[in-house]
Amino acid sequence: MNIAERLDEVRCRITEAASRSGRPADAVQLVAVSKTVPASVVAEAYAAGQRDFGENRLQELLGKKTLMPTDCRWHLIGPLQRNKVRKALTAGLRLIHAVERMEIATAISRIAAEISSEPVQVLLEVNIDGEASKHGFSASELKGMWEELVQLPMLDIQGLMCIPSPVEKAEFARPAFAALRTLAEDLRQRGPLSLPVLSMGMSSDFEVAIEEGATHVRVGSLIFGARSYPQTN
Ligand SMILES: *Cc1c(COP(=O)(O)O)cnc(C)c1O
Repeated sequence: MNIAERLDEVRCRITEAASRSGRPADAVQLVAVSKTVPASVVAEAYAAGQRDFGENRLQELLGKKTLMPTDCRWHLIGPLQRNKVRKALTAGLRLIHAVERMEIATAISRIAAEISSEPVQVLLEVNIDGEASKHGFSASELKGMWEELVQLPMLDIQGLMCIPSPVEKAEFARPAFAALRTLAEDLRQRGPLSLPVLSMGMSSDFEVAIEEGATHVRVGSLIFGARSYPQTN
């Protein structure tokens, strides 16, 4: 299968999963994760109509962004380092998916106030299954810090994101996805944000994530093939 055919298949599976969750296909956005994939190959996905692309490293994102048509929408899906916040905010990103601690949230709001009049759209990464080794706010941390977070004037918190621990079967990730949805519902109750976005689900489990309410799925290897070298955050 070529990339256009793979994209087509992923889109079909998204439509079916969305319909199982009682939602139209366009309620779920496909972010094609192009990390490690050269721009020449990403261009095949563009030719097949894909416009939203995700990268987990800012440097690689910026490099590819200059090589690709300007109507691409770029999502930073990996953690943002403190010393790269300014660069990220001037890059014209569509969405920052993985704000993973207070210090970064504060830095984004402060630097955004210096360089723009628009609040920055972000998602907060949640360490949903509580693994000590992983990035993200714990659920209880997030509830504890919520008032402080929503008061950051230039941070536009659109929703939550998670990367559950790898599991043998997609079905085993369902409790983590359900937990992220429930956490978002809880935070919505506290107000004042509507938190419309849930970024969850990758190649191995995006359909389960959609059934549990994902609005953005981040799919890489299913579209572009296995990555030739491993990349960690
Ligand atoms: C690499 C990556 C993905 C995509 O993973 P696949 O298994 O290739 O679909 C999704 N989200 C994040 C944060 C990633 O780093």
